[in-house]
Amino acid sequence: MKWEGYRQSSNVEDRRGSGSGFGLGGGRISAGAIVIALIGGLLFGIDPFTMLSVITGGGSMVQEQGPAPAAPPGDMQAVFVSTVLADTEDVWTGLMKQENKTYEPPKLVLFRGAALTACGQGSAAMGPFYCPEDQRIYIDLNFFNTMANQLGAGGDFAQAYVISHEVGHHVQNLLGISDRVNAARAGLPRSQANSLSVRVELQADCLAGVWAYHSQRSKGWLEQGDIEEAMNAATQIGDDTLQRRTRGTIVPESFTHGTSAQRTGWFKRGLQTGNMTDCNTLGSEKL
Ligand SMILES: [Zn+2]
Repeated sequence: MKWEGYRQSSNVEDRRGSGSGFGLGGGRISAGAIVIALIGGLLFGIDPFTMLSVITGGGSMVQEQGPAPAAPPGDMQAVFVSTVLADTEDVWTGLMKQENKTYEPPKLVLFRGAALTACGQGSAAMGPFYCPEDQRIYIDLNFFNTMANQLGAGGDFAQAYVISHEVGHHVQNLLGISDRVNAARAGLPRSQANSLSVRVELQADCLAGVWAYHSQRSKGWLEQGDIEEAMNAATQIGDDTLQRRTRGTIVPESFTHGTSAQRTGWFKRGLQTGNMTDCNTLGSEKL
C-alpha cells in the first residue's frame, strides 16, 4: 500500500503513554493469552467481554501496574492506522451521503494491555474490537505483530482490512443493525445466537470490502499483493482455521465469525461491487 503522505485522522486517541490514565496500568498480555482468546473465536468480536471474564476470572488480566512507555517518535504504525482511519472517514462520509445520512466517524483508541471502555474492560487479548456504547474502536498495535508472526497474516493491507472491519461494525451501529441483532440474540440458545453473530461479522467483512473498493477508486494506493494480504488475513482468522490451528478439531456451532471461505467470500463480494446493498448477510439464505 502506498499510504504515506495522505491525511491522518483527528479521531485517534492515543492512550499508550498515559499509564492508561484509568488506573489499569500497561498490562502486558502473553502470546499464549492471545491464542486462548482466539480459540474462543473472539477476534473482532461484537461481544468480547463475556469471553474476557472467562479468560481472566473477572477482569484481572492486567499483570503489571504502572505507566506504559510513551509512544516512540516517528511511530509509523500509529501513523498508518491514522491514515487508514482517515480514508474510511472519507469513504463512509460519501457513501452515507448517498443515503441522505450523515456519517459520524468513530474514535479509534490506541492502548496497551488493557483499556476501560463504555462496554467494560477491554483487553489486548481480545484483539481489536468496537464498543458501540462509546462508538470507539480499540486497538493494541501489538496485535498486528501477533497477526504477522503467529497467524501468518502479515502485510499493511491485512492491517487495513482489520481496521476497516471494525469501522464496518461502527457503520452497522449507525444504521441500527447492531441494536436489532442484539435484541434478536437475547434469549436465543447459544448456537443460534452464535449464528447471528456470524452474520454480523460477515457483514462487517463485506463492508470492509466496500471500503476497499471505494478507497482504491479514489486513491489508487493498493499495490500488487495487497488484496491477497487481506484475503489471507480473512482466511487465517476464519473460525474453522483458527480452531483447527489451536485445538485440532472444529466445532461449527461455536463459530461466531464465519469460516475462512465465508470471510473471504463476503470481503470479496463487497470489494467487487462497492455496493452496501450486496452485504445483506442477515437476509441471505446462503452464507
Ligand atoms: Zn467483528
